[in-house]
Amino acid sequence: MNDIQKSDFSSKADNCGISKTGAEYDGFGWDLHCHSSFSDGTCSPAELVEKAAQIGLSGVAITDHDTTAGWQQAAAAAQKLNFPLIRGTEITSHFGRVSVHILAWLYDPQNEAICALFDNLTKMRKERILLMTDKISKDYPIDREAVFACMKSGDETTPGRPHIADALVAAGVCENRSQAFAGIISPKSPYYVPASSPDAVQVIKAVKNACGAVGIAHSGAIYSRGPVLSEEQIEELADAGLDALEIFHRDNPEEQRIRLKKIAGRLNLLATAGSDWHGKGKINRMGENASDSETVREIVKRSFLTVAGM
Ligand code: AMP
Ligand code: FE
Ligand code: FE
Ligand code: ZN
Repeated sequence: MNDIQKSDFSSKADNCGISKTGAEYDGFGWDLHCHSSFSDGTCSPAELVEKAAQIGLSGVAITDHDTTAGWQQAAAAAQKLNFPLIRGTEITSHFGRVSVHILAWLYDPQNEAICALFDNLTKMRKERILLMTDKISKDYPIDREAVFACMKSGDETTPGRPHIADALVAAGVCENRSQAFAGIISPKSPYYVPASSPDAVQVIKAVKNACGAVGIAHSGAIYSRGPVLSEEQIEELADAGLDALEIFHRDNPEEQRIRLKKIAGRLNLLATAGSDWHGKGKINRMGENASDSETVREIVKRSFLTVAGM
């Protein structure tokens, strides 16, 4: 039997770790956006869960880019620690000219359309990273092998520019990931290769079909990630089944938070919080933004899987 089916956790499904009286982990909230070594984070899924328990969160979500590969390890750690874990994914997409990262939580990981979507995305990501690596390797001392060596979960790692950045750091070309992102691998660099991605409406519909809850990550990141979604676009995504906007994220400036709260209120969307923790790969601290229990309860209520590790 697959060990990530809802039924495995159903006996603990009632309180979702949210209202446990006298529980070990009545923490300060839920971080709904964290990455492990199965994408571009630097810590294993077990370390992610251990850290969440250690810092006093109520629960944590693993949301690696375009994969569920880290779920099993994270769930095993969560069960061992009896710590609440939400299994999720940050899915790469676009809507018009806007790059849209979709947080999908607690959906059926065996859904065929979702599996096909991730296969395609991984294939496209791999081709793009190889193309960029080959271009860079003409001028800098890195190669495909060096970049692959930076994918800490091997073949199961979702490839991305951070792995090229890590190879540049290992080769002594850059001091850290940020320097690589500001230079050699930035969109303005001659070595840059644009990424392709599926349409956001299709992704949202696919996750809803797989019975998950869906949010837009860093939905007001106007200064750091290119154009953001207009109110009309958010409404279209809401019509497609969107559940939430990640409003509390360090890349969303205050004026965007105010704007997004109004839109969420009008469209009846949940407001979520997340750190976008990547271990040592980014300065973001786990738990720097935390979602409240009511929001998490609603996400769980709408979803196929329950909270693991309880
Ligand atoms: P890609 O999806 O391959 O284009 O790479 C984008 C990923 O790199 C995102 O998932 C970010 O988490 C990460 N990233 C973007 N900028 C930085 C930065 N300055 N430092 C570290 N990681 C970054
Ligand atoms: Fe990332
Ligand atoms: Fe993102
Ligand atoms: Zn992220």
